[in-house]
Amino acid sequence: MTSTVPNAVETAAEQQPPITMFGPDFPYAYDDFLAHPAGLGQIPATEHGSEVAVVGGGLSGIVTAYELMKMGLRPVVYEADRIGGRLRTVGFDGCDASLTAEMGAMRFPPSSTALKHYIDLVGLKTRPFPNPLAEATPSTVVDLKGETHYAETLEDLPQVYRDVADAWARCLQEGADFSRMNRAIRERDVPRIREIWSKLVEKLDNQTFYGFLCDSEAFKSFRHREIFGQVGFGTGGWDTDFPNSVLEILRVVYTEADDHHRGIVGGSQQLPLRLWEREPDKLVHWPYGTSLKSLHPGGAPRPAVTRLHRTAGDRITVTDAHGEIRTYRAVVFTAQSWMLLSKIDCDDELFPIDHWTAIERTHYMESSKLFVPVDRPFWLDRDARTGRDVMSMTLTDRMTRGTYLLDDGPDRPAVICLSYTWCDDSLKWLPLSANERMEVMLKSLGEIYPDVDIRKHIIGSPVTVSWENEPYFMGAFKANLPGHYRYQRRLFTHFMQDRLPADKRGLFLAGDDISWTAGWAEGAVQTALNAVWGVMRHFGGATDPANPGPGDVYDEIAPVELPED
Ligand SMILES: Cc1cc2nc3c(=O)[nH]c(=O)nc-3n(C[C@H](O)[C@H](O)[C@H](O)COP(=O)(O)OP(=O)(O)OC[C@H]3O[C@@H](n4cnc5c(N)ncnc54)[C@H](O)[C@@H]3O)c2cc1C
Repeated sequence: MTSTVPNAVETAAEQQPPITMFGPDFPYAYDDFLAHPAGLGQIPATEHGSEVAVVGGGLSGIVTAYELMKMGLRPVVYEADRIGGRLRTVGFDGCDASLTAEMGAMRFPPSSTALKHYIDLVGLKTRPFPNPLAEATPSTVVDLKGETHYAETLEDLPQVYRDVADAWARCLQEGADFSRMNRAIRERDVPRIREIWSKLVEKLDNQTFYGFLCDSEAFKSFRHREIFGQVGFGTGGWDTDFPNSVLEILRVVYTEADDHHRGIVGGSQQLPLRLWEREPDKLVHWPYGTSLKSLHPGGAPRPAVTRLHRTAGDRITVTDAHGEIRTYRAVVFTAQSWMLLSKIDCDDELFPIDHWTAIERTHYMESSKLFVPVDRPFWLDRDARTGRDVMSMTLTDRMTRGTYLLDDGPDRPAVICLSYTWCDDSLKWLPLSANERMEVMLKSLGEIYPDVDIRKHIIGSPVTVSWENEPYFMGAFKANLPGHYRYQRRLFTHFMQDRLPADKRGLFLAGDDISWTAGWAEGAVQTALNAVWGVMRHFGGATDPANPGPGDVYDEIAPVELPED
């Protein structure tokens, strides 16, 4: 509930190496690869200056472009919307510019170590994120079925919540070999990770998250499953994930992706924006002072891609929204895959048919958020009668589901994320305007906090998003359904192009959809690095033997293969 780590493991964890998003599907040390002084590889000098198209200026596209530029290639970034993609930080009209809202990613686990490499590189600072019952969170209110409980720690909640937390720990231990896997990932014990994971993939690929709970002795009580779904673990209720493949959930809990979250001070969008402008110290071919920005006329990416097709000589031809047509030897595609089925006119020859099937079967989670700016963090006022905070981080089964309180000190304006929802809970907001949403949210919260006048503190108009309704996005992030393992494997391994027919090479996939841990920015970075490796090889390059890349060690760590018959 507060933590994804069963208690026994948590105590021992202090003596163990830190947990990182190392596998379980492809246990490759992206963080070590990035830190190594030998760099990510070299391409022959004859290829220096060659253009590579990068479709999408989100984190994955910008990391790809940045690393390709450092190798001496000339990335040409196409972006339909704005640099940052799902790292989208917005302000409030008429309010101080320091007040911001994270419409996409807002909290990052320390286990995202490849992501951290870039956060540190551009000099961004992080701070603890106020998740439910987290240390940085002064108090949490859990409101279910009209009953409200105030808690500063899990111990303050009624016994049934602790029973549910224990049931989750037991369920993971019994059904998913939790401690052994957590330890193997910490120790980067590749054979052990592969041994455990291959059995689980075979056993559980056809299982939903909910089915996994139901199969466990620990969760035989419906009431416990219901509370678990509504309050969940780590970041809050996870019942909207119940229909998804349990493998998706296991990846999150093993790697503690849902724990110890930190927010980026000033907003996460600064990361891709700073990389765009960054002039690397070490780069090949380009003069010192070159940045992605300086390589793009007008300092801006090219507009949306509208057409992709193969042309003679295994080239890929890209048409953009300004009608410009350019042809490349390599293209890295980082937008959501369904774009290839809808907004972008594609020819069938771009991918083998099995990859098209995998793209078609992609499944997304919807997500909505709404933020309001307030005059001050009034929630920290003490209720004279109860001695408690007047308002708290709130988890509820009402429409709002999760309410987050975000402040920067007691005497400054602050921000409330009145509601953060997923899937069906997000779709409930879809027909409503920002103001209509805010009214329903204030009504829900008014039932929980009858004595608090939230409205009187609001100092600006709400900002909202429903990612399923954004023109260049198809939902918030990918979430595989049962039976999707094979599809995910095809997409993730697509960067190993020497295994593809010659006429299917040159177009690389990267980004959240391609990653094993969709919904976590770490996966966008890891898949970008795979694509960088793939492009480097495509241009006849190689890594330094002292720092083998993901493709160099692929055969030793390749994701488990399930039979196709
Ligand atoms: C609501 C929400 C909450 C999240 N929470 C977290 C979190 O707490 N922690 C975490 O680590 N991660 C979180 N994530 C996930 C994280 O935001 C993503 O993994 C990451 O930002 C994805 O980066 P990307 O580059 O793969 O994709 P994107 O950011 O989607 O980038 C793709 C880009 O392609 C562009 N594009 C689309 N079509 C075209 C076209 N035709 N031509 C050119 N460009 C095009 C888009 O405009 C976009 O900018 C969250 C995401 C969402 C939506």
